[in-house]
Amino acid sequence: MQRLLVLFDLDDTLVDRRGTLADWAAEFTARHGLGDGEHAYVLGMVAERAYPSTFDAIRSSYRLPMSTDVLWRAYCADIAALVSCPAEVLDGLIELRAAGWRVGVATNGAVDIQRAKLRATGISERVDGVFVSEEADARKPQTRHFVLAAARCGTVLGDDGWMVGDNPVNDIAGGRSAGLYTIWIGNDRSWPPDDPRPDHTVPHARAAIDLLLRYSASHKRTTA
Ligand SMILES: [Mg+2]
Repeated sequence: MQRLLVLFDLDDTLVDRRGTLADWAAEFTARHGLGDGEHAYVLGMVAERAYPSTFDAIRSSYRLPMSTDVLWRAYCADIAALVSCPAEVLDGLIELRAAGWRVGVATNGAVDIQRAKLRATGISERVDGVFVSEEADARKPQTRHFVLAAARCGTVLGDDGWMVGDNPVNDIAGGRSAGLYTIWIGNDRSWPPDDPRPDHTVPHARAAIDLLLRYSASHKRTTA
């Protein structure tokens, strides 16, 4: 039997990126002597995705004296120090692997920051593989992203692959196009009415893990 595969998105799926960023933006603006208006601007700049170029823009806007590289490295270190993954989710990753799942992370973004977060939270050592889009310029929702993530887990996309994520386009539509079952982390939002629905919707990552554990338990019974 081919082993089951599940790929998790990272930001706002396994970790609370939005909450972490709000804390970081408050620290950043205080450290550089910037005000409330600047706080909103800085937060807006990094909200979708942050790269070194983002800090080039922030540096120019506020005429900050340090180099872009120094700002970027400080950002990676600060975020790694602030971010966390809930204990029940970390435990769940171990439970999934014990139940026979291959577990991977499939995330868009810059390698430095995504890898720093994965190490700091302890996710790295609890999964079979990680793929960050910048490593091969393959972003979700491209199918190639999911193929490369599966390869990092030592497998290929097959009939029993799953994608868990919070983004309707990147994670759910992308996962479906790659032939994966999909679980949407709703984070208190409602599903966009015009988009094809995910296979399952759950409130948070632990609920997705519990669903997958139930699935593998019943799968074992029916194929035994
Ligand atoms: Mg996400």
